[in-house]
Amino acid sequence: MKTILITGGAGFIGSHVVREFVLKYTDTKIINLDALTYAGNLENLKDIEDRPNYKFVKADIVDAKQILEVFETYQPDGIIHLAAESHVDRSITNPLEFVMTNVIGTVNLLNAAKHIWGSNFEGKRFHHVSTDEVFGALGDTGFFTEETSYDPHSPYSASKASSDHFVRAYHDTYGLPIVLTNCSNNYGPNHFPEKLIPLCIHNILNGKPLPIYGDGKYTRDWLFVIDHAKAIDLVFHEGKNGASYNVGGFNEWKNIDLVKELCKQMDEKLGREAGTAEQLITFVKDRPGHDLRYAIDATKINQELGWKPSVTFEEGLSKTIDWFLANEEWLDNVTSGDYQKYYDKQYN
Ligand code: NAD
Repeated sequence: MKTILITGGAGFIGSHVVREFVLKYTDTKIINLDALTYAGNLENLKDIEDRPNYKFVKADIVDAKQILEVFETYQPDGIIHLAAESHVDRSITNPLEFVMTNVIGTVNLLNAAKHIWGSNFEGKRFHHVSTDEVFGALGDTGFFTEETSYDPHSPYSASKASSDHFVRAYHDTYGLPIVLTNCSNNYGPNHFPEKLIPLCIHNILNGKPLPIYGDGKYTRDWLFVIDHAKAIDLVFHEGKNGASYNVGGFNEWKNIDLVKELCKQMDEKLGREAGTAEQLITFVKDRPGHDLRYAIDATKINQELGWKPSVTFEEGLSKTIDWFLANEEWLDNVTSGDYQKYYDKQYN
C-alpha cells in the first residue's frame, strides 16, 4: 500500500485535501500530520475519520526529531505540505513564529524525506503548497505567472517565499522530486473566521461591524477551496518534476465589492430586507505593507493539466454561506477562547 503524508490536514485547505485523497485513493494510506494549533480542528474531518485508509498523527513540524520519527514509522512515498502559520496579520505581530513553522518546519520535512528516501526517488514526490503572495503586489494591470520574480512584502509572504526556495534548493542540490503550487485566496467550508469571508458571515449573523481595511480597494483573486484541492491532486500526480504551477480562480474582486456581494446573498438567505447587512460595513485602519492587487495567470495548469475552476464565484460563495448557516455550532466553537482574545486585540 502506498502512503501519502499530508501536513496541516486539520486546517482549512488541508482538510479538503485530506478528504479528497481519503475518498478517492482508497488503496493509499493517508496520514494527516498536524500540531492542532488554533487553526487546526479535527471537527473538519469528522465525516472521514473512521475510514480504514485514514490516520491522524499529532506532531509539530518544528520538532525535527519528532518529524524524523514519524517519517521512519510511516515511510511516506509522497508528502503534501500545507502546515503553516497562514494569517498575514498574525505575522505582523509575531514574525518569528512564521519563520519557525513555515521555514524551519519545511526544512525539517525536506530533511526527513531526504533521510528516508536516500537516493531512491522512484515513485516519490514532495509537494509544497504555497501562495501567490510570494510575488508581491501588482498595479492595476498584469498577472503573476510562474516566471514572475519573488518580491514578498509581509513576514508571512517572506516566510512562504523562503520555504519555496528551500524546496527548489533540495531539488537542485539533492535531486529531491518536488512540485510547487502557488495559489490565490481560497474560500469555502471550514474557513477560519479571522479571514475576510467567514469573518463577515460571522459578524453579519451577530450584527457586528464588517471591518474593511483602508478604502476597500484591495483586490484579490478568489478560488473555491474544493477547486484548490482538486488542483493539488492533479499537480501532485501529474505535474512535472521540479515545476511550479500557479492556481487561481480567474476571479478578481475588490474587497469592498466582495463584501457587498456577500451582504446581498446573506440578506436574501436570511430573509432580511436588502441593504441590511451592508449597513454593518466599517472601514478600519490599513494593514502596514498591504499589497494593492494580486492576480494569477493560471494558464499553465490549465493547458498542461486541464485544470480549471468548477464553480463561479457567486455559486461558490452561495455554497460557502449555506455551509456556515448549517454549521453555526462549528463557527461558535472556533470563535470562542483564544481566537476571541486575538480578535478583540485586532479589531476592538
Ligand atoms: P490554516 O491556518 O487554516 O491551517 C494550517 C494548519 O497547519 C492547521 O491545521 C495547523 O494546526 C497546522 N499547523 C500549523 N503549525 C504547525 C506545526 N508547527 N506543525 C504541524 N502543523 C501545524 O491554513 P490554510 O489556509 O488551510 O493554508 C494551508 C496552506 O496553504 C498554507 O501553507 C498556506 O500558506 C497555503 N495557502 C493558503 C491560501 C489561503 O487562501 N488560505 C492560499 C494559498 C496558499
